[in-house]
Amino acid sequence: MRYIFDPPPQTSLPIEGSDARFPVRRIFCVGRNYADHAREMGSDPDREPPFFFTKPADAILESGARMSYPKLTRNLHHELELVIALGRGGENISASRASAHIFGYAIGLDMTRRDLQEEAKQTRRPWDSGKAFDQSAPCGALTPADRVARPGALAISLRINGDVRQSGSTTDLIWSIEEVIAHLSRSFTLAPGDLIYSGTPAGVGPVLRGDHLIAEGEGLTPLEITIAS
Ligand code: MN
Repeated sequence: MRYIFDPPPQTSLPIEGSDARFPVRRIFCVGRNYADHAREMGSDPDREPPFFFTKPADAILESGARMSYPKLTRNLHHELELVIALGRGGENISASRASAHIFGYAIGLDMTRRDLQEEAKQTRRPWDSGKAFDQSAPCGALTPADRVARPGALAISLRINGDVRQSGSTTDLIWSIEEVIAHLSRSFTLAPGDLIYSGTPAGVGPVLRGDHLIAEGEGLTPLEITIAS
């Protein structure tokens, strides 16, 4: 095949304990999947089925990188999330069989231009400008699933310049990891390489130029990002 210009490089993530890398296909994100965060955003956490939005694969930013303060926003927010990496695809996957599709886990940040997202909500427009911008998906190295003891009870936390800003546990997910995969696979045919950002606990807030972010998940490799000054 001859292309008129070089196709984009394949986005990938490092894997703990391996020289091979994980090729990223798509990034799905779950909206409002922790009750305390749903409440802080003014929603009723009990009644809504899970909903999804996406980011482009090349929005991934690896640990150690410097993130530019994004264009157009005055209110860049952090959302600390457990990321699920799929090693097998499928459709109409049942929750009871979902874990067989998981390659591994990482800690990630669903960076959000909150002012643009709020404007989109008010004008009933898509969320892309608030969510799917360049470098909006920092993600740590993947840990294979067989090395993560209890993904359904995994503590996560985010420190900015040393202060804890968000902490939670996947025990508080409204829709469990397996239920998220089941729901998503009814709407999309999933594929190896797909990532799922599983939602954020309460405590989202602004990130400023020069901030140093360290996101951690129990048993996972930390994710460190600096915002350019
Ligand atoms: Mn999120």
